[in-house]
Amino acid sequence: MNYDLSWTSLNTKLRSSEDLSGGLSTALLELENHQRESGFIVDDLREIHRFVFNHPKKDYSFRVQLNPKRARRHDGTGILHPPRKETYLNNGCFLCRKNIEWQQEGRQVGFEIKTQSGDYNALMNPFPLMPNHVVLASQDHIPQEVKLLSENQQSKGLEELLEDLCELACRLPKHVGFYNGVGAGASIESHFHFQFFRRLPDIPNFPIEERSFTSSKDGRCPEFILDYPIHVLRWRGSISEVVSKACAWITQSIKESKIGKHRLTSNFIATSSKLGESVTLYFIPRDKEKQFWNGGKGIVGGLEILGELVMASDDERTLVEKDNIDYFFINTALSNVSTQFSNKNV
Ligand SMILES: [Zn+2]
Repeated sequence: MNYDLSWTSLNTKLRSSEDLSGGLSTALLELENHQRESGFIVDDLREIHRFVFNHPKKDYSFRVQLNPKRARRHDGTGILHPPRKETYLNNGCFLCRKNIEWQQEGRQVGFEIKTQSGDYNALMNPFPLMPNHVVLASQDHIPQEVKLLSENQQSKGLEELLEDLCELACRLPKHVGFYNGVGAGASIESHFHFQFFRRLPDIPNFPIEERSFTSSKDGRCPEFILDYPIHVLRWRGSISEVVSKACAWITQSIKESKIGKHRLTSNFIATSSKLGESVTLYFIPRDKEKQFWNGGKGIVGGLEILGELVMASDDERTLVEKDNIDYFFINTALSNVSTQFSNKNV
């Protein structure tokens, strides 16, 4: 079938599933099934082994995901040069629809999602780290860096970014969603995107969610995480409350930052309550010079911030196999990326 026709027909089918039955979650599960049948998702989660490391005394944990296939993800799954007549856009960016068509020879199809302020394509991750691992890429080829930190006028503003992330989290209450800034785990810097995945059925909560936070003093300040190796701030409430408080706080702390603006970056993680009526937004200030948990290796992105380290290389696998890892190893590893923008974030 012609690519545009198969895109439209899948979108019509998924849209009706979204409207008639289970909302966006159902549509994304159907997209995943479609992408397995088409042969686009080449991996499944069977080769992933997960280990939980508990604190000896407290009710805290960290996890390790042993994922040998992850090391091969940069090999890509598609063709790199277009057949004649096909469009080669933006250096072959593989989140641009026009490129996806020839790169994946028609196998990859996306689901179009509108939010209050943006248009996205949901694209399945061919090397999933978690169930229903999906990339929500803006339909336009715009940079991942937020306008506050970028000279590029095409960049998204912070408010728009947070509104979209929080809205999508509320529409996907069984998922966890995140944004990785440039130098904070983003693998594609030239095309704006979020990632979402479904919680694991047997261990649905992440280590970060087991921790206590300080209580917000006056309702405007965020809550700060306690006993965690990474500096994390949190806001909870309705989407509009959370977005306006977070924007005000973050904009101010960037102004007061002692670290040069060119080094600042961040992760955002959003989850919602079971019925999707309120949102929890985590803000993780980051320094582009502190990207890794393992010296110059092992980039820390959203999943690692949540408390699950992905180990893929031979060296990392040996660490696990030789029993060299425990709770405190991971605590120290994650502390390598902890950053505060200003003293206000204490
Ligand atoms: Zn692109």
